[in-house]
Amino acid sequence: MALPDLSLMPNPLPGFGSGAPAKPAIRVPATQTPPTTPGINMDSSGLTEEVQPSQLRVSEKEFSATPEPQQTREAKITPASGPFDTPDDTEVSYNARPLPADFDYKVLGMHSPHLRLNVTDEACEAWNQANEHAVIIIPLYMAFSLTKMQEAKDHASTFIKRAFPDSAETLSTIPAANAIDAQGDDPLPWGIMIDGLTLCDAAMLLYHQFWLSKAFSFVAHPASEFTSDWIGNWAFAATARDRTAVQTCLKTTLNRPSSKIGKYLVENVPDNYERLTIIDSARVRPLTVTTHGTTATHWTFLVKSPHPEDIVKHGHWIEAAEATVWYHPAIAKGAKRNPPKPCRCCKGRDHSTLQCPLTELPFWKEITNPDKPDDAVRANTDISLATELSGHQSMAREETHTHHRGRGMGRGNYRGRPARLRGPRGRHPSSTRGRYIM
Ligand SMILES: [Zn+2]
Repeated sequence: MALPDLSLMPNPLPGFGSGAPAKPAIRVPATQTPPTTPGINMDSSGLTEEVQPSQLRVSEKEFSATPEPQQTREAKITPASGPFDTPDDTEVSYNARPLPADFDYKVLGMHSPHLRLNVTDEACEAWNQANEHAVIIIPLYMAFSLTKMQEAKDHASTFIKRAFPDSAETLSTIPAANAIDAQGDDPLPWGIMIDGLTLCDAAMLLYHQFWLSKAFSFVAHPASEFTSDWIGNWAFAATARDRTAVQTCLKTTLNRPSSKIGKYLVENVPDNYERLTIIDSARVRPLTVTTHGTTATHWTFLVKSPHPEDIVKHGHWIEAAEATVWYHPAIAKGAKRNPPKPCRCCKGRDHSTLQCPLTELPFWKEITNPDKPDDAVRANTDISLATELSGHQSMAREETHTHHRGRGMGRGNYRGRPARLRGPRGRHPSSTRGRYIM
């Protein structure tokens, strides 16, 4: 269902649909409305912090009335659903595609420090000084180069001004500047800050997170500190049919004070209700992984973090999860199976590139390249299929060895502003191994 909204056609801005026919923009919900659901603009993709757009406007007034405007960017923006515009002009390839109502994937394992790896002090400072409602976007398959950053900046600006005309006149882009000229298949950094959004538009960008169109697609992340619900992937003596047992294993282990993670919860979350809320949030997701023709089911463990905005404490929480013996009589003991590399498409750390949930979207091939999607991906990322396959082969090898990448986060220097990439000892910065934190 689409409602024309004539109030959403301000004077065209330079570079924004100039010369376009004066047709009314169509305002559409950001997720496809299920046929049996009468609601138009809201969806229920799993976030509990949902706020009605009308409530948002009230919040915005309260927000702007707070006495410390310099704190604005640091304040957590509560994600909220709402509609966006799809103008019928000469740049319809920038029109966002609504996500299917049952698409509930959010990027997992990405934390705020990831966005600032290999970013210069000056660029971090520019981001810190952004004082309007800002989000940081990562174009899909983004690999850093000045040329790509220039293109992405322009694409992002065009996309967002068309979809969110209320923000068009105040919007600005602040691209990341890289501290080290890294080589390799996915050099950092990737992020572009979008500053000057209305609170409503920033909240909506974060709520749906994935914004996909034929011309440009990206993922939106908060500019404030954030962590993730993902605590790791494990393999059990279990196939996808054993979901109930795996889910039970996760919850009962969290609830058992004698387990490492149960002990962590008791010691760090003394409030019973809060602890039960965390345990109750636990859920699992099967992931099919094929290596060398052999298919296995790995299980993604998701639990609300006790420290959603404290990177250092969150690192201790992850350490506790990794030190835990995950056991259930029906499925035996879990073996850790995190992908060795993040997804190159969405940067999620719970799956590798070939398993990206975005590729299962019904319109995925249409917005990439209907004829040669693989070529489009390669052209955009400078990666080859051979590189990708070798990554999977190395994953298969590494599965027999527990590696401790990411352990450093709990002890690292990421509190505050992790401005510079720390090159792994004795390694060229082009190596992607060891650069990521969990
Ligand atoms: Zn992905």
